[in-house]
Amino acid sequence: MVATTHPMAALWIGLTLLVACGTPPTLARIIADLDGDGSYSTTDVALPTLRDWGALEGDAVLFHTGATLDLDAVVNEDDGRSRDRAIRNPGTPHMRYLRDGEVAVADSFLGLSMVSGYAHFEAAVMFFAGLGVVLTGEPAPVYFHPQIEGPADLFPRTDNAVYLPATDAFFLMPMEFLQAMPFATNRGVIVHEVTHRVWYKIAWDGRMLALRQAIDTHAATVAWVLLRATEEGVADFFGAVAADNPRFLVPSAGTDLGDPRDLQPVRSVEAGWLTGNMVSPYDLGAVVASTLWGFAAISGRDATCRALLAAGVAQAAGLGDLPSYSVGELEAATIAGLPPADRAALCARAAASYAASWLPFQGLCP
Ligand SMILES: [Zn+2]
Repeated sequence: MVATTHPMAALWIGLTLLVACGTPPTLARIIADLDGDGSYSTTDVALPTLRDWGALEGDAVLFHTGATLDLDAVVNEDDGRSRDRAIRNPGTPHMRYLRDGEVAVADSFLGLSMVSGYAHFEAAVMFFAGLGVVLTGEPAPVYFHPQIEGPADLFPRTDNAVYLPATDAFFLMPMEFLQAMPFATNRGVIVHEVTHRVWYKIAWDGRMLALRQAIDTHAATVAWVLLRATEEGVADFFGAVAADNPRFLVPSAGTDLGDPRDLQPVRSVEAGWLTGNMVSPYDLGAVVASTLWGFAAISGRDATCRALLAAGVAQAAGLGDLPSYSVGELEAATIAGLPPADRAALCARAAASYAASWLPFQGLCP
């Protein structure tokens, strides 16, 4: 890892143009850390799934630049069926690299951000493959710095990363207000988004939008909201595990936005949330994530990840035509999939957070 304080100046020293070299690169330089003052550090990684360095296309994801997302053309149909009509002019990146020995170095900060993004998407795909989750089909597209058209309040224009099920695609917005580590370069953030895709397929059975459309009862609406909020916690948990950082949001979003989602504090469910009465899905999500982080401290990260994924698969099997869900069900199912020898400690950790919704744990916990 190299610390650099003058980003662009340093890039040009001692590097030759990639086109001048005969052999393909074996490593890519990516941004590893970035401070608010513009100093950053880099690390060199292999990108085994990258097939086309120029177009940033590989078996993990396909990057596109210059695309427009037309929100008016997005309909709530599953399987990414809105993609073709809602995405216009997806362009192919023309990445340019300098060469530092075996290492390809993108020749601009945006280029470095994109290669870093590819590296983190690849790491996310491999992280889930290591847990036995391999999604079939084409790699998902990543729209880098897309133009957004449509209702102004529906979708972030800047400073966000999004997985949109209706397009089965990722969107990395330009960082405008948050001037620290771009989301594209933050492994925890990218794994959070990839978790949404994984969870959509395995825990929602790819029917999240159809279920939302079918709902005609208040109880089912609440269940859907609780499932979505719980999913935010699941995504933060996997992001923190993959990044090995329970505060992975802070380097990008700062403490005001990041601390409320720090996974280390013990947080508690509030009674009002049980009826879906939350300011944001991250209210419940932060409790779910910190609880899972606590489970991982007891039973180990790998076992907790696997038990959680199994609980997600079971959730999909039980969805039916109208969802029903109580806060804590997924967490209780995760405990049930962890070693019985850990049960007492896991239940004690759950009890610290779920007093307001203990029913799912009854029968499981003493
Ligand atoms: Zn999310």
